[in-house]
Amino acid sequence: MSKILQSYRKRDEYADLFSTNQRFKVYTERHLDQIAQIQRLPEEQRFAMHVVANVLPFRVNQYVIDELIDWTNIPGDPIFQLTFPQPGMLEQADFDRMADTLKSGTDKIEIKRVAKLIRDKLNPHPAGQKNLNVPTVNNEELPGMQHKYRETVLFFPSQGQTCHSYCSFCFRWAQFIGDKELRISSNETVHLHQYLRSHKDVSDLLVTGGDPMVMKTKHMAQYLLPLLDKEFEHVQNIRIGTKAVSFWPQRFVTDEDADELLDLIKRLVKAGKHVAIMTHFNHWREMETPMAVEAIRRLRATGAVLRSQSPLIKNINDDPDVWGKMWRMQTRLGIIPYYMFIERDTGAKHYFEVPLARAWEIYRDAVKQVSGLSRTVRGPSMSATQGKVEVQGITEINGEKVFVLRFIQGRNPDWVQRPFFAKYDEKATWLGDLEPAFGEKKFFFEE
Ligand SMILES: *Cc1c(COP(=O)(O)O)cnc(C)c1O
Ligand code: SF4
Repeated sequence: MSKILQSYRKRDEYADLFSTNQRFKVYTERHLDQIAQIQRLPEEQRFAMHVVANVLPFRVNQYVIDELIDWTNIPGDPIFQLTFPQPGMLEQADFDRMADTLKSGTDKIEIKRVAKLIRDKLNPHPAGQKNLNVPTVNNEELPGMQHKYRETVLFFPSQGQTCHSYCSFCFRWAQFIGDKELRISSNETVHLHQYLRSHKDVSDLLVTGGDPMVMKTKHMAQYLLPLLDKEFEHVQNIRIGTKAVSFWPQRFVTDEDADELLDLIKRLVKAGKHVAIMTHFNHWREMETPMAVEAIRRLRATGAVLRSQSPLIKNINDDPDVWGKMWRMQTRLGIIPYYMFIERDTGAKHYFEVPLARAWEIYRDAVKQVSGLSRTVRGPSMSATQGKVEVQGITEINGEKVFVLRFIQGRNPDWVQRPFFAKYDEKATWLGDLEPAFGEKKFFFEE
């Protein structure tokens, strides 16, 4: 056993430490009524969950049910809102349509047809993800990758396209409904390496999903270990996006190949790569369990850097105190706050969206509460077709109330950091809702 492994606790020692030391059951729409806590809810509420879960993805595991949700606070509990289908997630007409379909006792094919009709209206691939950023090798499209910003390639390994539980607001929801047409993923190790080999201006690889941490370590190693080769020297930074620290921290502690996974990360770090684990927490409650704290401790012990990115979501975390406390906890645990995102224009957006003006207020009121060590976090940002746009503030210029905005990333790198202004609009929730300030006809990036 390598030195690094000796510095972690031995896996069998955890049996005494945690009661959650097994592979826990996962529930989907079909198994909803088997969950003991759900059985206690009124029939009408349960039916509403089935209605929504027939349209939008639903998957939750026993760890989330037992350790994260406060069942004395239903439906208001933030983790319940985060993982269980809520009636408001569908527009009333769509809800009624699916409810009638289910009540009529019709066959599965008809249920699927109605589900598809509703889904098609929900903008399944926002920001041109499916068509705009697909890279090519020898004129052949590589569907499991996206290359939008010069220095960073996104890779969607095919074994990492699910998650340990699903977030109700997920912007990648289309990947989880089993519609192959909509899926972006790749098992083409060769293509990934071929692409990186021929793009020396790429410094960052971002492995994402779904959740790549649902993959077995041996698959992760297949993608990442070859990057230690001299020809991939330019790929300096390897980011892995994951919500497993929240939904299944066992992945890094007691799972069969947890030690191997940490060893793999350690190897990459030792060879000189910057490995960033991009964690995703929506609420500080997700960091309170001993298992999550231990997962964070073990990940840090590999030499990887932990950062956090998370969307601002109504009904879950639209409260500055929740963010303030979350960032303080993260900083103490060794996670660097990195992004606050605006909920994307897809799926059940109307249920989760927070207007840009309110988002900025929440960000500001939260940032005011924390020390400089947590102020590394970028303000409310939109991943739009043109780039990542941050709301930097609301102010008045020559008597006109405006949003101050900037590109953090741009489809054109020259757009980055140029401040620009939009007319203040209390209700706007996305870049597309905004109009240029000062009577101008277009934003500079539209010219
Ligand atoms: C956010 C994002 C990145 C990474 O941007 P950073 O500013 O480097 O964190 C890369 N590609 C896409 C498509 C993104 O949305
Ligand atoms: S962890 Fe990410 S990809 Fe998975 S369901 Fe949540 S938001 Fe979607």
